[in-house]
Amino acid sequence: MSEKTIGETTGATIFALSTASARAAIAVIRLSGASCHNALTALGVTDMPAPRMAGLRALHHPKSGALLDEALVLRFAAPQSFTGEDMAELHVHGGLAVTASVLDALSEIDGLRPAAPGDFTRRAVLNGKMDLTAAEAIADLIDAEGGAQQAQALDQLRGQLRHRAEGWRDSLTAILAHLEADLEFADEDLPGGVGQKALHALPDLQKDLAMQLDDGRGLRLRDGIRIALVGAPNVGKSSILNMLAGRDAAIVSARAGTTRDAVEVAMLLAGVPVTLIDTAGLRAAGDDIEREGVRRAVATADMADIVILVNAVDTPADDATDDEMKALMARADLHLVNKSDLGDPPPSGWSFTPPAEAMELSATTGAGAEALVARLTDLVVEKTGQGGGALVTRQRHQTILRDVVNHIGAAQRAADAAIDGGGGLELAAEDLRLAQRALGRLTGAVDVEQLLDVVFADFCIGK
Ligand code: GDP
Repeated sequence: MSEKTIGETTGATIFALSTASARAAIAVIRLSGASCHNALTALGVTDMPAPRMAGLRALHHPKSGALLDEALVLRFAAPQSFTGEDMAELHVHGGLAVTASVLDALSEIDGLRPAAPGDFTRRAVLNGKMDLTAAEAIADLIDAEGGAQQAQALDQLRGQLRHRAEGWRDSLTAILAHLEADLEFADEDLPGGVGQKALHALPDLQKDLAMQLDDGRGLRLRDGIRIALVGAPNVGKSSILNMLAGRDAAIVSARAGTTRDAVEVAMLLAGVPVTLIDTAGLRAAGDDIEREGVRRAVATADMADIVILVNAVDTPADDATDDEMKALMARADLHLVNKSDLGDPPPSGWSFTPPAEAMELSATTGAGAEALVARLTDLVVEKTGQGGGALVTRQRHQTILRDVVNHIGAAQRAADAAIDGGGGLELAAEDLRLAQRALGRLTGAVDVEQLLDVVFADFCIGK
């Protein structure tokens, strides 16, 4: 552990507003560190509430003595607290002047400093109160916009990923122990092949890890799903977008940074944040500008998790001549035939095999909209797994598991070579040690200090 980290962890007592910075009935200011008791005394709390017992106390400015608020004061004695340190919570009235004045008062007290983003959780990890996956889960829980994301974050908080990672580590440890025994007593007459037999467990372990690595549902659920509408111009893509945005079943999300304009609509489907994207019309482009529009549409759709191909009963079924566009249309998850109010769809005319599933719709009358929302909901559930089972929820997990799988693969190859007489089992053992080490980084059992900055990069202050 670096000097700096030790200093930061055990040094200053930190404080922060842990609720949103806005006018509200109540705001909670948290403190963590050895000076909590002193800080409360400095605020004029002489009759200290017992740990975990709330007490209504007057708070005064330590310098001016001015009354700041009547607040509920809570204390937690180390190590029985979120961070593992002494902690205090001030439940003040949630007025902007009140919170600002209490924070200002705290900053006047010796040994106290404002918390940096993620500081409280960082201390909890460093003090062994939780592992890195739980810390990540707290960030995800706070960011969760829908029930499915919430469920996934709670699964991770409760150790779903950690337990599996520990299971994998135990398997590696057992294999390694046998292998090392084999190597150590190679000259003695031990029953031969103990280590080699243990290596038989490697392929199953490898398979299990690879399966989790390939499962993109957890990442998609955490990031949200992107759905692209593609098709020729004027088939009704933006009308469909607006129709979906206005429906009760598809709750338009209040996600920051998204606008309800004609191009993108953010909403929740099955508890998953979904971004519906209207791409430029796909057709054989005339001029350069149009060609650029098509190129972007293809690129957007390529990155989407779900592609909906739209055409209309009154337009030629297939206006696409470009191979890239055809490939994109053919990979669509869903085919919508819009403007059903105008008559029957054209009998055929596609120059490629459209996706099997076609649904009729009228964006104007709303006919078919219920069925469309239901189908989209099913697709979203299929792509995200709804917080059930998916273990890998972040790029960080993916990178680590890929490392582990690679080290196990190398161990397997070294073991195969050793059995063929082409090398020593020492090499396999070394690769397994590397795999074990890599796995330790998932929970922070290994290299926790180096990992903290990555994990806490997207934390906000007060967490
Ligand atoms: P986009 O270019 O694919 O986004 O198509 P728009 O949504 O702009 O629609 C093109 C035209 O078709 C507009 O005049 C819409 O009012 C009309 N339109 C869209 N959906 C329907 C529909 O279901 N029925 C009918 N009759 N007209 C529609």
